Parts: sequence; structure tokens; C-alpha cells
Amino acid sequence: MTRRRWIADTWDEATATLTGEQAAHLIRVLRAQPGMEYDIVAGDRVCHAVIAGITGDTVRFNLVADVPAEPALPVTLLLAVFKFDRMEWAIEKATELGVNRIIPVIARRTEKHLAHAAPKRTERWRRIVREASQQSRRADIPVIEEAISLRAAVKRESRAVRLVLAEEERATTLTGALTQTLDESASRTDELPEIQLAVGPEGGWAADEEALFDSEGWKPVSLGPRILRAETAAITALAVTAAMLE
Ligand code: SAH
Repeated sequence: MTRRRWIADTWDEATATLTGEQAAHLIRVLRAQPGMEYDIVAGDRVCHAVIAGITGDTVRFNLVADVPAEPALPVTLLLAVFKFDRMEWAIEKATELGVNRIIPVIARRTEKHLAHAAPKRTERWRRIVREASQQSRRADIPVIEEAISLRAAVKRESRAVRLVLAEEERATTLTGALTQTLDESASRTDELPEIQLAVGPEGGWAADEEALFDSEGWKPVSLGPRILRAETAAITALAVTAAMLE
């Protein structure tokens, strides 16, 4: 039986509370009563919880036991900023697909007005991932960073396997690169390697950006011969990666 899951607003070792909209929904729509059981995400724990009491718009829970939480995928998505409605749809889908971290990046062909507006959208994007985490019953909430320049993101020190989704690439497919990665890492440790996937803006990557990726050791990979929209490429790459890692 899968219990409905809530993300706690406050918590300690043995108790948690819901306030605000979540609590109002639980009280008014789901007619919460003491004794009802739910899963509560409290920090990095997921707990089997029982309603201990309801006062005003606050629901208090006793945390009964830890529920084994499925870890997020060790995958970071560098997502070039593109039309916000489609980008926010991609952010929600990436969350459902288990992405661990999203770094919005300003690419050369990111439209200027979107680049300027991006920093003000961070809180909205964080709300989208929080709601999508709850809906998809994730035990964790992906990190969404403030938008940074592509150069800063690409040059950041990392031991991850770094794959750039390149629509012109024909030799290496994403599945081929992941198979090689998994074979290599399986021979070393049973830890899954962290994987970073970079998806470009509607206009694609500029030539100097492809050179930058290359100079920083990113491997271009293809999702096939058709040109996908950025949001299609992002969820396809995550779905393929999730399927191969899980
Ligand atoms: N410049 C392209 C559109 C770019 S699509 C055009 O000719 O219209 C936006 C991003 O999605 C690309 O930068 C790339 O990261 C990714 N993408 C789209 N199709 C892809 C494919 N077949 N293989 C790999 N990546 C792809």
C-alpha cells in the first residue's frame, strides 16, 4: 500500500509539521484526522508518519519509522535557458525522471531577454521541482542552481562523465557512451559514476561552445538522426540514462 507523501515544513528527530497550502489541502480536502498515516519527507529522510494532532492550519505528525528512500539518479543536467514555458515543462519532466541537479546555463544562442530574466525565475523553478518531487513521490528534491554562463558550468572542476547532446554528432550515441562508461566503472567500483548531460538552446550550440566542450573533455553524443526540440532532447537523454542506470 503506498501512502500519500508530503514534504514537511518543519521537523525534528521524532515529529514533523505541515503548514500553509499543503496543510490546508490535507485538512479541508482530505479531511485529516489524528491517526491517519502518510509518508513524510523530512530533510533527507522519508518517514512513515501518523497524524498526532491538528491545530488551525498546522498538522503535526509523529515520525514512526524510516521508509527506504530510492536515491535520485547521479545525473546533473546542464540546461541552456530557452523559452521559459517549454523550459519549465522540461524542468518538471526532468524531476519526474530522477535528475539530481539542474544547472541552467546561458548559451550564446539563448535569447537575450531570457538570459536577463533567468535569475528572477530561480525561485519559480525551485517551486516547480518541489511540486514535481512531491507528485512523483521522490524522497529528495533536485537542486536547481542560479543560471550561470555556459563557460563557467563547463569549466567547473568535476570528476563526472560529461556528455554534451550534440545534434550534429553521428559517431557516438548516448547509449553507446553510457554503455562504455558503465563497463569502465563496473570494473572499478560498484558505485555508479556521476553523469553530466548538457542540452543546448533552441538555436543549438555555437561552434566556439562545441570547441569549449571539447577542450574541457566533454564527449559529444547523439540521440539519433532527427533534430529534437531542446525539451524533447532533455527528457529523452534523461529517460535513456535512467533506463541504463537503474
Ligand atoms: N540547432 C538545431 C536545434 C537545436 S535543438 C536545429 O538545427 O534546429 C536543441 C538542443 O537539443 C541541441 O543543442 C542538442 O543539445 C539537443 N538535440 C536535439 N536533437 C539532438 C540529437 N538528435 N542528438 C543529440 N542532441 C540533440
